[in-house]
Amino acid sequence: MRFERITLTGGPRKGSGQSSPARFTRPPAFDYQDGELHCDRVRLSELAAKYGTPLYVYSASAIRERYRVLDRAFDSVAHTICYSVKANSNLSILRFLSRLGAGFDIVSGGELERVRLARKRALEKTVFSGVGKTEDELLLAVRRGIVLFNVESEGEMELLAACATRLHKYVNVALRVNPDIAVKTHPHISTGLAEHKFGVPIRDASFLCRQASRHEYLDVAGVSVHIGSQITDVAPFRLATERVAELAAQLAGEGHNIRFADIGGGLGISYSSQELLDFPEHVKAYAEAVLGPWQAVKEPRPLLLLEPGRAIIAPAGVLVTRVLYVKANGERRFTVVDAAMNDLIRPVLYGARHEVAPVSLDRPAWESSRSDVVGPVCETGDFLARDADLPGVLAGDYLCVLDAGAYGMSLASNYNTRPRAAEVLVDGRRVRLVRRRESLHDMLRPETSRL
Ligand code: PLP
Repeated sequence: MRFERITLTGGPRKGSGQSSPARFTRPPAFDYQDGELHCDRVRLSELAAKYGTPLYVYSASAIRERYRVLDRAFDSVAHTICYSVKANSNLSILRFLSRLGAGFDIVSGGELERVRLARKRALEKTVFSGVGKTEDELLLAVRRGIVLFNVESEGEMELLAACATRLHKYVNVALRVNPDIAVKTHPHISTGLAEHKFGVPIRDASFLCRQASRHEYLDVAGVSVHIGSQITDVAPFRLATERVAELAAQLAGEGHNIRFADIGGGLGISYSSQELLDFPEHVKAYAEAVLGPWQAVKEPRPLLLLEPGRAIIAPAGVLVTRVLYVKANGERRFTVVDAAMNDLIRPVLYGARHEVAPVSLDRPAWESSRSDVVGPVCETGDFLARDADLPGVLAGDYLCVLDAGAYGMSLASNYNTRPRAAEVLVDGRRVRLVRRRESLHDMLRPETSRL
């Protein structure tokens, strides 16, 4: 399987009289066959007709391949890939990844229950991160018996100790440290600088671990970091691993039995066909950056935990939408579609750029026209793409927003009282509806008993 995105050049349909070619790109599992965009072996237009739009479509083969590429890159050391549930928390996707061997990184009691429902045994490979865990969430996680709590403050440490004592259960804790490393990404998803709310300063780690070890039910078992998300330069991961490795050695020297080192997630992808990243090559560079400092750690080394989300799931998913109207306001052209910012908020939240491709290349004309792809929500920020090169698109056509598998559905909302989209998982020819479309009844039920 090839991982790099391929740029297709669509030519004029016979007899159309048009000559200007149009360029479309696609992620690897999403391939044009006979002019029709497929996911694995299934036409996206068929899925859209059967399940309606907006529709998230995920490729099982892409998820499998990407998980395996990442997993194999770390073969030379004891490690666990703890997929970050927040990237895409669909139960069937969690179950699928768990069967491939993944553990999970969770940040709430809700995500904990998702993992349990997806596969109870996966709790043995689940780590709990997050700066604001509540008492109820901590109690739940202690009861469920997850493998590691990534603790982010002294207050949380004390509360966790109280919960564990109350339940008479021993828990493993790792201190999440803030490594003060700058990364090149959107400021809202950079997390490893001293000014951010995450983790504790490295200089406080030794003191806090000593405090923690005074509690009978807390076992200081690890260290963790997470420096941010959508990081394509691998150099910061080397720095972060160096700091984790040093701290793990220091804490071990101070008498703690350090068995886990969690270097977080954050590996980015390319959302642009102009800057293609070959996934196996990129993962190789990432693994080298991490393993360099890691292999210098004396044996027995702790278990290395990685928390990728986006790198596994983003290019494995697309958002299929239907064109409602095509209009022009003066010079500006708009393609109004039935998906909106409530379905995919990344463009307005992070200034993210997703490419948009037509589901069918069989257009009556290849006249290229740039337009903004916008949704029905009453906000100027409701756009999926700006200046997209969409040839001859007409009302009723299907379009496909690429690389939408991560932070798409998991960030979806009911804004404008819009039901959330359906999701399907495709594996070869097999199609499974893994989340039905939300109904008005689903949405309104918590507010009224008269439905
Ligand atoms: N781990 C933690 C603690 C996170 O906060 C996040 C997301 O920001 C991730 C892992 C996953 O990041 P990504 O999806 O960029 O790999």
